[in-house]
Amino acid sequence: MINTLKIAIQKSGRLSEDSLKLIKECGIKLNNGKGKLKATADNFPLEFLFLRDDDIPGYVEDGVADLGIVGENVLLEKENRVDLVKKLGFSKCRLSIGVDRNWDYKGIHELEGKSIATSYPKILAKYLEENNVNAEIHEISGSVEIAPSIGLAEAVCDIVSSGSTLLSNGLKETDVIMRSEAVLIAAKSLSEEKKQTLNNLIFRINAVQEGKKNKYILLNAPNSAINEIISILPGMKSPTILPLAMEGWSSLHSVVKEDEFWEVIEKLKKAGAESILVAPIEKMIV
Ligand code: ATP
Ligand code: ZN
Repeated sequence: MINTLKIAIQKSGRLSEDSLKLIKECGIKLNNGKGKLKATADNFPLEFLFLRDDDIPGYVEDGVADLGIVGENVLLEKENRVDLVKKLGFSKCRLSIGVDRNWDYKGIHELEGKSIATSYPKILAKYLEENNVNAEIHEISGSVEIAPSIGLAEAVCDIVSSGSTLLSNGLKETDVIMRSEAVLIAAKSLSEEKKQTLNNLIFRINAVQEGKKNKYILLNAPNSAINEIISILPGMKSPTILPLAMEGWSSLHSVVKEDEFWEVIEKLKKAGAESILVAPIEKMIV
């Protein structure tokens, strides 16, 4: 159909599971599954291509796929002409410089004249240039972290999340070049029909993301405390208040932001709230 979008997803790796989970949370059901190169959806005009992440920006630029999910690090390195539609909040990591743990490293200028191993030569070259550092870049496609110990390079520029991979190879993280997360990308010239499908997909992704950022909260309180409790609970518009069977008491329902949650609960208890129940929100349309 003319409104069907093809989305490229990493075949197997650190983006795959969360990409498919997001699709599922959007209520989209894939029919053929793992190990295949392609899949379709029953209930949404979407087709899936499973590829290496490095190839995804290129395929989206060429129009082989209309959409893709990749790390911002790969997107920046590949320099393909595609649109960044939305940050997706998973596969968060950094692209950083790492050096020998015992190096009394004071700053990027110490890499002058040294060699650095990386799978991200373009991003690294730009960073070195911005900092007026001349260094030799060794491009390697994997296991960058072992380069110093085998004498291939004196430093690395690699993806870091906890830092444990660097640490177990005798390295330490020194300079953060960029922060990255998974992003949804799209081809630049989508037809109107495809744009409509993309808007529907974005609407669903937003609802899933908003839901995750918030909690549904129910509590009981004496009527005398309601005004104070309302001032603590901003809610979507204003909280729902229902009378309880017990005279002089009410139940309040509202929505609280995940990152303000514990602070709010403390205040609610102080204000006289009891029997506080908190539930996750699956989708939230704002
Ligand atoms: P492929 O075989 O598809 O080329 P790959 O080995 O290049 O896979 P992965 O290691 O699966 O790539 O990482 C894919 C993306 O996930 C990276 O480009 C980065 O954005 C992100 N990523 C990598 N390592 C981590 C990590 N430790 N924590 C979180 N996100 C990460
Ligand atoms: Zn890759």
